[in-house]
Amino acid sequence: MLKKILYTIWLFLFCLVIFVSLRSANFNAFIDVIENRTFDLRQNVMINNKAKSVNKNIVIVAVDDASYEYILDKYGEWPLSRDIYAKLVDYIEAQKPQSIAFDLMFVKSLKSNPEADNALVNSFKKYDNLFTAMNLDNQSEDLRIPPVLPDKLSVNVINNSSNVDLNSQAYTNCRSILQGILNSTSNVGMINVSRAEDGILRKMPLFVKYQDKFYPQLGLKVGLKYLKDKENLDIKNFVIDKNSNLILGNRKIYVDNSGSAILNWYGPTTTYEHIPMYRLIKIINKELPDTGLDFKDKIVYFGTTASSLFDIKTVPVSRIYPGVEVQATYVNNLIDNNFIKKTDKMFTVAAGILLAVLTGFIVMKVGSAFVASLASLSVYLVYVLSSYYAMKFFNVWIELVYPLILAIAAFISALIVKYFIKSRDFEQQYKLATTDGLTELYNHRYFQEQMKRQIENSKRYETEFSMIILDIDFFKKFNDTFGHQAGDSVLRQVAQTLKRNVRATDIVCRYGGEEMSIILPNTGKDVAYSTAEKICQRVSDKKFKLSNDRETSVTISLGVATFPYDGESASDIIDSADKRLYNAKNNGRNQVGK
Ligand code: GH3
Ligand code: MG
Ligand code: MG
Repeated sequence: MLKKILYTIWLFLFCLVIFVSLRSANFNAFIDVIENRTFDLRQNVMINNKAKSVNKNIVIVAVDDASYEYILDKYGEWPLSRDIYAKLVDYIEAQKPQSIAFDLMFVKSLKSNPEADNALVNSFKKYDNLFTAMNLDNQSEDLRIPPVLPDKLSVNVINNSSNVDLNSQAYTNCRSILQGILNSTSNVGMINVSRAEDGILRKMPLFVKYQDKFYPQLGLKVGLKYLKDKENLDIKNFVIDKNSNLILGNRKIYVDNSGSAILNWYGPTTTYEHIPMYRLIKIINKELPDTGLDFKDKIVYFGTTASSLFDIKTVPVSRIYPGVEVQATYVNNLIDNNFIKKTDKMFTVAAGILLAVLTGFIVMKVGSAFVASLASLSVYLVYVLSSYYAMKFFNVWIELVYPLILAIAAFISALIVKYFIKSRDFEQQYKLATTDGLTELYNHRYFQEQMKRQIENSKRYETEFSMIILDIDFFKKFNDTFGHQAGDSVLRQVAQTLKRNVRATDIVCRYGGEEMSIILPNTGKDVAYSTAEKICQRVSDKKFKLSNDRETSVTISLGVATFPYDGESASDIIDSADKRLYNAKNNGRNQVGK
């Protein structure tokens, strides 16, 4: 057992070395893609099981397809003139919402309409719970000189985690929004997103870097306003602890190595309450009665969902997800404190080793490979299920791919070692049971088995076979003269000589004592006789080496018998060969008996 474990560990380490050396950047990316897909799968199963529901305090005022059409019809242009937004804000503010956030960017007017712009700027002056968005990019300076942003928009971030690199979210340029808004409020947040290699948006940066300063995400600002009002949490400096958590009072947001928070998605499908913007416009224009819309204490997000306005993202739970819902999900995760936390590398390695050890143990302990496979698969299934429940109940992302690869490598290693050792043990035992220790010829038992088999074969195929039995001449005297050790050595050398002078298909055995036998399949009388003569000659010609460099010679006497001429059974054949051997002895030895 110890040997098996040792072999398994060696083979496993060997697999591991190959695995690690294969871990090129490409291979890593490939593994990440699969791991991410398992995340998506878990999120989708959670959503199908209605594991989490959205926070009802978040509502979306959507520029949907109908609203877009209505706006074009009524005002003849998009974007909408900003004084309309100002009126919408006044209308909602009258109901005392928690906050209003625009996932829209009020960039410099296309058509100069300073009065309309001013109306909106005044809204930002008037309401401290009104937020809007801005986006960093990497446009060249040729296109646009990077603007200087007001200091009040940036925040201090203290990063104590060696795993988190905030510089990976740095940008060189920015499309500024109306200067009036920038002057009136600090409620401007960024809406840069981070997509994985496969184009799917799973996480959002918490801060983005521009001109050596950090700017928080819009969602972070909106969420923090909520926490300030509801939980009295006032954050001046943002601290990321050494375990990669952004500390917000008693909330901890796990950030990955690029400084992004992994979003936990809600569902199914369209999640947040959507209010088409045209309804609001109709209400403020008195085209619809002012009923049914309740914004009190709500976080109201303005954004586009119209297909022609192209703010559509691919996220784990949907291929077409409006950007504004990504923002809402971000805020929702923040206020409900259910961002996803990914376990660290140590956990992944430990889980992999645990699975590998368990697999190795199962394969070694369980006799049948089929049962061992089933048992191992069950273990993997339990691991996969645990990872699902860990995400469902604790918002924890346990990695699946690396640990399972380790476990499967262990399974294969253990199986190979098990069969290698089994077949080697079997071979050893078979050899032990069929060979003679001194001469390494086949033993008497094997000889008898083979005789029976030869008779059966020869009967069925109507062929012949022969056998030779031989005995060393005056061996008793030889032992007396040179000693038993010398006798043993001569026995071994005679055995070698026999083997060397017969065909590979012939079976050379030690019959007993100094007697040996050879079975010659498919061999007739004459060939067998001449083979016996050849052997007799070779032995008598050979110089047998003894210890202390002395040489001597020995002779043998032989008897040959052939099936079916000399008998129909093994014992008849052996008897008749024996008789001829006896004749050879009587006739002066060192010859083949007649
Ligand atoms: P012959 O066959 O020519 O009639 O004379 P012999 O002396 O060989 O005949 P016998 O059968 O009387 O003696 C066989 C001897 O072979 C007896 C025994 O000491 C010796 N012998 C048998 N097996 C071994 C063995 O494994 N090692 C050694 N050294 N001697 C053995
Ligand atoms: Mg004998
Ligand atoms: Mg003898």
